[in-house]
Amino acid sequence: MERFDLALASPRVGPEAALAELTSFRIGGRPGRLVDCFDQAELVAAVRQTDRAGGPLLVIGGGSNLLAGEELGGLTVVRDRRGAVRAEADGREIRLTADAGASWDGLVELTVERGWAGLAPLSGIPGSVGASPVQNIGAYGAEVAQVVESARVFDRRADAVVELRAEQFGFAYRDSALKRSMAESARPTPRWVVLDVTFRLDSWCPQMPVAYPGLASALGLAMGERAPLAAIRRAVLAIRRGKGMVLDAADRDTWSAGSFFTNPLVSADVAAALPPRAPRFAAAGGLVKVSAAWLITASGIERGQGLRPGAPAATSSKHVLALTNRGGATYDDVLALAAWITARVEARFGIRLTPEPVRIPPIAPAPA
Ligand SMILES: Cc1cc2nc3c(=O)[nH]c(=O)nc-3n(C[C@H](O)[C@H](O)[C@H](O)COP(=O)(O)OP(=O)(O)OC[C@H]3O[C@@H](n4cnc5c(N)ncnc54)[C@H](O)[C@@H]3O)c2cc1C
Repeated sequence: MERFDLALASPRVGPEAALAELTSFRIGGRPGRLVDCFDQAELVAAVRQTDRAGGPLLVIGGGSNLLAGEELGGLTVVRDRRGAVRAEADGREIRLTADAGASWDGLVELTVERGWAGLAPLSGIPGSVGASPVQNIGAYGAEVAQVVESARVFDRRADAVVELRAEQFGFAYRDSALKRSMAESARPTPRWVVLDVTFRLDSWCPQMPVAYPGLASALGLAMGERAPLAAIRRAVLAIRRGKGMVLDAADRDTWSAGSFFTNPLVSADVAAALPPRAPRFAAAGGLVKVSAAWLITASGIERGQGLRPGAPAATSSKHVLALTNRGGATYDDVLALAAWITARVEARFGIRLTPEPVRIPPIAPAPA
């Protein structure tokens, strides 16, 4: 067995840190409490204690899928500072178990260097291993559901550490049972807090088939042809940088949560009513996935557009699907822009966009 340490390069901030310092949107106030956990017992104890005190609780990873309000005095934020990774060979396969607090892209880079196939198309996605199954992260023809074998989680409802097998995650497009558990309870943390995730990767051949047209053309290949993992990672990172989809403190187009809306899944009838040039892809259950970016652009919304010229929240100047903080944007600024875009698309196409990031509305401190 080999061991590595890939702790998330999270900012070394004190307990007085604001969510503006802990999230890629750079928006959000100071939580009532910030607890850093360096082993599993501390993490479980912090979650349990906060739940018993009545919460609300935010288990935070890289803060790259969060939009938080300015008043958070009633919120407890728990950070997992562990980053251990264990690799075990199992025939031609590698079973890789990573602590939830490990850096997602650090893990991808490690697998590419080692020639372990499975994660390369997911290069450049910010955040932690623990959050990766929450919205079943995906990009460039891959999603994490394809390689998750199991995870150890703390089940807050059962008050127990249990193992979830892949089939228990209820993975769907940008969705899982973990994400749905938040929607049901309107809480910013799932019922299941991920402690570590085990991935099953292929150590047989340091190549993968290319499953996304834009990536295939960047590599000069036909769809389905195989490419070396390192070439896939390089090409994905280059495409992502061009869209402001790799975090860069100096580039305000990356002060975002990535894509703000998921691609809508619509019935075949709704898809057929769209103009012929609208991109569409067959999805599970006879549904059709349509491009949110195309719908937004076709509704007359441009890159770099806000509710007024110079507004602090605007679409990215590189990619219309990312809503960005141009400096000084508030929670309400971003939500107002999102509501305007949603209304424009719905009026034009009758399709309602679904926001992707987890929202944390203002939470006042509990009365003393
Ligand atoms: C520039 C940019 C590009 C992006 N590109 C993509 C992309 O291509 N594809 C994609 O799918 N996403 C993308 N995202 C979104 C984001 O990076 C992913 O959703 C990522 O998995 C979030 O990880 P995180 O650690 O930052 O989670 P956070 O933002 O810290 O948390 C998000 C949610 O996950 C929960 N969570 C965090 N850790 C745990 C845990 N250990 N157990 C249980 N719940 C937990 C939190 O409570 C919260 O509800 C992008 C974001 C940015 C800023």
